Amino acid sequence: MALATKETMLGALLPGNSSAELREFAVPEPGHGEVLIKMKASTICGSDIRCIYREHLGKGPEGYQVGMIAGHEPSGQIVRAGPGLRRFAEGDRVIVYHISGCGVCNDCRRGYMISCTSSYRRAYGWQRDGGMAEYLLAEEKDLVALPEELSYTDGAQVACGFGTVYEAIQKVGVSGDDAVLVTGLGPVGLAALMLAKAKGANLTIGTDAVPERLQLAKSLGLADVVIPAGPEAVSQIRALTSGNGCERAFDCSASDKGRLTAIQGTRKWGRIAFIGEGGSCCFQPSADIIHDQKTIYGSWVTSIWLMEELVERLVRWNLHPADLVTNRFPLEKVGDAYALMAEGRSGKVAICFDEELVA
Ligand SMILES: [Zn+2]
Ligand SMILES: [Zn+2]
Repeated sequence: MALATKETMLGALLPGNSSAELREFAVPEPGHGEVLIKMKASTICGSDIRCIYREHLGKGPEGYQVGMIAGHEPSGQIVRAGPGLRRFAEGDRVIVYHISGCGVCNDCRRGYMISCTSSYRRAYGWQRDGGMAEYLLAEEKDLVALPEELSYTDGAQVACGFGTVYEAIQKVGVSGDDAVLVTGLGPVGLAALMLAKAKGANLTIGTDAVPERLQLAKSLGLADVVIPAGPEAVSQIRALTSGNGCERAFDCSASDKGRLTAIQGTRKWGRIAFIGEGGSCCFQPSADIIHDQKTIYGSWVTSIWLMEELVERLVRWNLHPADLVTNRFPLEKVGDAYALMAEGRSGKVAICFDEELVA
């Protein structure tokens, strides 16, 4: 007995002129290996703002396809199952890994569908319909089970932001030995602080140019110390770490200066991960990296198996990504939600449905 669905639904498009447009669509019918998900939470990513909302960057097959329903951080409940499902069923709570890869290339076989370059690759909210709608059609192979201990709003954040941060943290390694620096305190930076603490970091330091974001990192209890971005930041970081700098740094600012602070705020033999996208970075290889034996890692999204592992860990750590959500909107107010996120002063902004709206 299929759970009740409607025949039409509302979905949000991003025309690329700093607006969002609600339109009516037919509710899709799941085919073989597919599911229809009743959306419960759909969060907005920085990349939505940078690459789609303000303007459509990256034309061609890699870019946002005009007319697609936006949103690549979806979480909801399966309400209709297509034939041939192997694991999931109606009623299951799920997160959608936001890229549907070809499934047979080397990257897909590693679980890194983000890196799939096949012409069959489709990212939700970019080249196929995403989560800013009442229902979402997804492929079973892209699903991650969402345990009861986590809310759908927790799940939505795992779909991109928290998964991305977890990847970088696992790559670089964070333990109780480490002081951790995070440059850029938007939702990804806040997630980096939260997971660094969960991994045992003995000191967390956050920097940002926006006072509201410094305040948020402090009030959420994620940064032990916050430092305004600027020429004094590196000396302040060193003063907090016996003159040495942090063992680990994560750049989530995507700015040239933020990246340089991450490098220079890291001690000898330290490791730095670049997570924030775009822009450039100018540093002195000998003085900043080589002589101090430092390593810089690039880290892009994550694999679906690490996403599953993160979900398991979040339950064990009793950690809730939804704590970073500062604003929840119903789908009808999707324009306000994107506008707020684009201002760059809030925490995470979520479109929520049903019980998630009042949580
Ligand atoms: Zn994203
Ligand atoms: Zn592939």
